[in-house]
Amino acid sequence: MRIARFVHPTSPTAPEGVAWGVVEGPLDAPREELTVAAIAGHPFEAVARTGDRWALPDVRLLAPILPSKVVAIGKNYADHAREMGGEAPASPVIFLKPSTSVIGDGDAIRLPASSRRVDHEAELAVVIGRPAKDVPAGHALEHVLGFTAANDVTARDQQAADGQWTRGKGYDSFCPLGPWIETELDPADLRVTARVNGEARQDGRTRDLIHSVADVIAFISAVMTLLPGDVILTGTPAGVGPIVAGDTVEVTVEGVGTLRNRAINR
Ligand code: MG
Repeated sequence: MRIARFVHPTSPTAPEGVAWGVVEGPLDAPREELTVAAIAGHPFEAVARTGDRWALPDVRLLAPILPSKVVAIGKNYADHAREMGGEAPASPVIFLKPSTSVIGDGDAIRLPASSRRVDHEAELAVVIGRPAKDVPAGHALEHVLGFTAANDVTARDQQAADGQWTRGKGYDSFCPLGPWIETELDPADLRVTARVNGEARQDGRTRDLIHSVADVIAFISAVMTLLPGDVILTGTPAGVGPIVAGDTVEVTVEGVGTLRNRAINR
């Protein structure tokens, strides 16, 4: 099931507003052919359709979730660790991106004038569905609502200059998520790609994650409680590179879909 969050127009039974809904139609169908059916309340419990339904082009997609925090994993693919000039660390290195960095599909990545080099990082994102504290890896996936695509946008020059990553990865709009959450997906071996203006830049598979989705949930939940809606960015494969104003970045996660954002000067 694909869960989207969106602004919908007035319908016979609902005034204009924001809702969660279920995206209906084949995974490979163009968006013009998809519909979205509103659900009552939030998607963390049994999903009940309200009966309201719109063509997908008639709604505006929002970030599919508003996390209390975004926890990201650094250097979780060996090929990316090498391109950054080092080895992958033995245990996961985690960092936080602020909730205010989250944007949705179609929203603009706003490039700060203070950075000379902003990179894309295509990643599989995990959306937590049930509180997770000290969860063993064997039970970690029970706490997952679903998966979406993410772009861990990074001011690479500031990441390097600061010695820690809060500024370089924390700007408003530096965490595109979407276009929706797929709730029925095995994360073990999914293709993760990035294209910029249609040109292939990254092409990896989650089977090459050094620390698996279950392992990173267990690792993080031993440090901090993961709440429903929290998001984990699992790391990026090799091929990160710069984006400039006017570029369109597409992150595709197999089984989820394509997250598309344009970069502009803020
Ligand atoms: Mg990253």
